[in-house]
Amino acid sequence: LVSTGALPEAARVDELVASAHERNRWVADGVVADYIPALAAADPEAFGVCVADVGGSVHAAGDVDVEFSIQSISKAFVYALVCEVVGHREALARVGVNNTGLSFNSVVAIELNDGHPMNPMVNAGAIATTGLVPGDDDADRWAFVADGLAAFAGRELRVDEEVYASEAATNERNQAIARLLASYGRLDADPGRTVDLYTRQCSVLVTTRDLAVMAATLADGGVNPVTGRRVVSAGVARDTLAVLASTGLYERSGEWLYEIGLPGKSGVSGGLVTVAPGKGGIATWSPPLDDAGNSVRGQRATAYLSRALGLNVFASA
Ligand code: GLN
Repeated sequence: LVSTGALPEAARVDELVASAHERNRWVADGVVADYIPALAAADPEAFGVCVADVGGSVHAAGDVDVEFSIQSISKAFVYALVCEVVGHREALARVGVNNTGLSFNSVVAIELNDGHPMNPMVNAGAIATTGLVPGDDDADRWAFVADGLAAFAGRELRVDEEVYASEAATNERNQAIARLLASYGRLDADPGRTVDLYTRQCSVLVTTRDLAVMAATLADGGVNPVTGRRVVSAGVARDTLAVLASTGLYERSGEWLYEIGLPGKSGVSGGLVTVAPGKGGIATWSPPLDDAGNSVRGQRATAYLSRALGLNVFASA
């Protein structure tokens, strides 16, 4: 038997990934997001499941090579990249780590907390995080984000210009969030430019396979296990996973941790990444979402894999 690293042997992981896909492909619950007009065109049948091991092997089933916009999953990786620059304390003070208990784009959460963005996985905190991206001008700041996401994925990524334009034309709420943060002195960068950079980062195209490698990079202490390149420090990877555990599935983060027992991050285009520290990354993609904006099939497939692979971090046996 050939072990793939920290997970069971390769053939077993292949089998479980295929089974996670097969068991859930018929699930018809959930609704494709349409508040960003371009996302409404997503194929509700599309479904990919992928596991990347910290040893660098990748196990895939379904539509794992189809590109879709990364959306909120970018929040996890841009947060890690920004933490690398601003450090543990500054990230805690400026962005926070506590769950809001409210929806991902809540304005109320900001008002209830003296203007604090609360955590980097809701829109307010993600916009505050993107506001900390270093650079002399917009091009520099975009390069920081694009190069960083590419290093996590291990390949150059492009922007879906249609999704970007569609969200940029309809993101009044995110613009309001940025201005509200600025009004409380919680955003030093220009609100309009920060939201534009955030919208662009959300429009980056990835595949399920890319997301599995990105997740495995966080599992591997910040080193991309496929390219061997260090993307962030081990301390930053650890901090990012702690934040994902408490906030990665918005107001459903508690239920997620209870069922799956791993840090994860969802996005409205139907992607979902999950990290088993020291072991590997799981990624799924299926556009129909629950009412918190989390992929329905993705949550089910990930719960199955977490159990079958014995990944729950709270389990002692
Ligand atoms: N770009 C989206 C937004 O800001 C991302 C939200 C998400 O994936 N939950 O609304």
